[in-house]
Amino acid sequence: MRHSHARPRRYRTLWPPAEGIRVMRTPSRPAYSPERARLAVAVALRDGRIERGPCEVCEAAEGVEAYIANPAQPFALSWRCPTHMPR
Ligand SMILES: [Zn+2]
Repeated sequence: MRHSHARPRRYRTLWPPAEGIRVMRTPSRPAYSPERARLAVAVALRDGRIERGPCEVCEAAEGVEAYIANPAQPFALSWRCPTHMPR
């Protein structure tokens, strides 16, 4: 169904959900779009190359998301709880 938000099953492994990954938007480097950075991190999480950690400020484990300050370096990320996620 064209307008369904559900993805075909085969895409689940190819394109993992990039949930819990936030990228600062820096329009100067379109070659490293926030979308590509999020996907790179999502794939690395899926493949076990990186693991989620506690908040790097307060060590909280609840609701921690990846914070990518520079889309050109998606793996220079930090884990932040909702309180310490930069806005
Ligand atoms: Zn925190």
